[in-house]
Parts: sequence; C-alpha cells; structure tokens
Amino acid sequence: MSIVTYKRGDKTALTKNFTRDEFECQCKKCDAQMIDLELVDKLQSIRDALGVKLKVAASRTTPRYTAARTASTSMGLLPTGAPSIGS
Ligand SMILES: [Zn+2]
Repeated sequence: MSIVTYKRGDKTALTKNFTRDEFECQCKKCDAQMIDLELVDKLQSIRDALGVKLKVAASRTTPRYTAARTASTSMGLLPTGAPSIGS
C-alpha cells in the first residue's frame, strides 16, 4: 500500500489516464486528499485491458462526509470510504 496525500484541485497525473483530482472526496470541502497508488495502478490495468475510458464514480470519502450522507438517506448502502468506478 502506497498512500499519497495531496490538496484538492491537484490535477497531477497518477498514471497515463488518471489524475489526482478524479479521486477527491465528494464533499467538495475538505482540502487534504488521499489515494492509494496500488488502487490507481489496478484501475489503469483494467482501463488498459478494456480499452475504454473509466470514470471514477465514487472516491474515498472522509468519515464526516460518509456519516452525513448515510444520515441523509434511508438506504445507506455505500460502505465507508469505499471507492468504486462507473462508466
Ligand atoms: Zn470531504
């Protein structure tokens, strides 16, 4: 595991197809962001294998954001901080 910490708005490339800002917390408020480079490498491998663009649909979230989101929905199906991808 290799965690990188960076500031919101940082568009530095992580791989040839993914940049840091794609993995920002969705609250749009917290400044410090974190990403595991192992995850990005695996996403890049999937992207290369599929040959199609992947959009990061849900990135890591802070516990405060996750708590607020869970409280605001009766379903609360998203696990804490779990990243996912969409098309
Ligand atoms: Zn946040």
